[in-house]
Amino acid sequence: MSNQQYIIICYSTSQMLRADSLLKALNVTTDLIPTPSEYGSICSTAIAISHKDKEIAEKILMDHNFAVKGIFPHEIRKLSGLMESLKNTVISQPFKDIMKKVETGETLSKEEITYLLKVEGSEKKVLFETADRMRKEIVGDVVEVRAAIEFSNYCNKSCHYCGIRNGCSVPNRYRMTEDEIMEAVHQLHKTGIKTVVLQSGEDDYYTVDLLIQLIKRIKRETKMGITLSVGERSYEEYAALKKAGANNYLLKIETTNPEIFQFIHPDDDLQVRKQCAQWLKELGYVNASGNMIGLPGQRPEDIAEDILFFKEMGIHMIGIGPFIPAKGTPFEKYPQGSVEMTLKAVAVTRLVCKNVFIPATTALASIDPDGQRKALQAGANSLMLISTPPKYRLNYQIYSNKNMIDLDSAIEAIKEAGRRLPKYLVLNEEVSV
Ligand code: SAH
Repeated sequence: MSNQQYIIICYSTSQMLRADSLLKALNVTTDLIPTPSEYGSICSTAIAISHKDKEIAEKILMDHNFAVKGIFPHEIRKLSGLMESLKNTVISQPFKDIMKKVETGETLSKEEITYLLKVEGSEKKVLFETADRMRKEIVGDVVEVRAAIEFSNYCNKSCHYCGIRNGCSVPNRYRMTEDEIMEAVHQLHKTGIKTVVLQSGEDDYYTVDLLIQLIKRIKRETKMGITLSVGERSYEEYAALKKAGANNYLLKIETTNPEIFQFIHPDDDLQVRKQCAQWLKELGYVNASGNMIGLPGQRPEDIAEDILFFKEMGIHMIGIGPFIPAKGTPFEKYPQGSVEMTLKAVAVTRLVCKNVFIPATTALASIDPDGQRKALQAGANSLMLISTPPKYRLNYQIYSNKNMIDLDSAIEAIKEAGRRLPKYLVLNEEVSV
């Protein structure tokens, strides 16, 4: 089959990056993608190549004495028996045609993705169930739990939607000291959680040197995985932070529609944001992105483009949340995004991007108390706790009435969704696993 893809799996991220640049330098077209789960952790990145380049790639790697774990056919994920299971369901012909493609693993077009984002009634139910099955087959039943420490709410940007934007009157602006952050990190470490997300506004106070010092200390004292979410920075800064030990980077694209992007971000440029995502990927970060649902002027077609962007960029973790108006911002009177559209976007993203992490977002929990369970049953497989110390939390209201997801509410959502807690969690006696 001429369109058969192959994937090269390396022993480490640095080897993978070296192999990738070597192949690229010798004119082999490569793509970096999340490693399919059957070949290891989906947190790692694999190199995808086409059938026609397989032999030449093998030769190049051999000539340069590159030991790789292997080159495997990139199996297309199928959902066998899907059509059979739908034979007594009332669904339209166009929907059936798309489900047939999902069953055989064919790529969905923008039009088909848009169609799925618009379904209602029994088709919506089938969409959620199919995404849930894809999630189960690819990433299993365990819900990955991560936790965020929002360490500064100072921000030099004025994104129109954001409740901590520059110019917005926040009760108090705060910056946590390194010791305060470490105290919160240690508390998390005791719960067994393996990854801490360090998030802030775009605050120049935290220079790269300060962040490097913090990253090294977290690694030295806890060895936890570190996700940074500190906005747009230069290539050199991203490289230095990676070298210091940061593992993942969360920078949401928010929307791929250039006009909407411009309208909501007076200080930003979509091309720069895309460039940052590209750099993060090239530097070997586990790349996290996401979007908001229900932005002014956003249509299902725009959300379909966002999903295609996640796929084409090989994004590992995709946070999809409803837009929620924040008091005191230019968008405070705008209507909030819908729970149903957010859930459909989660489900379609699972069907299109397949082996990725999709969190049931805090934003969803903030507009629907049952939102996280619903997302976990529509394709999502991870949860993020808010672990900012209580005295600062209320000052990090990026949107109004933000839900403070703690370990107990996360455990509840996981149980209600009929899913498994990760083994690494250290639980109190009264909580039965
Ligand atoms: N300064 C960092 C972190 C921003 S806050 C950065 O730029 O990456 C993290 C996320 O919160 C944003 O990416 C955005 O998707 C979300 N967010 C901010 N305001 C929001 C709102 N009003 N409604 C919903 N989500 C919002």
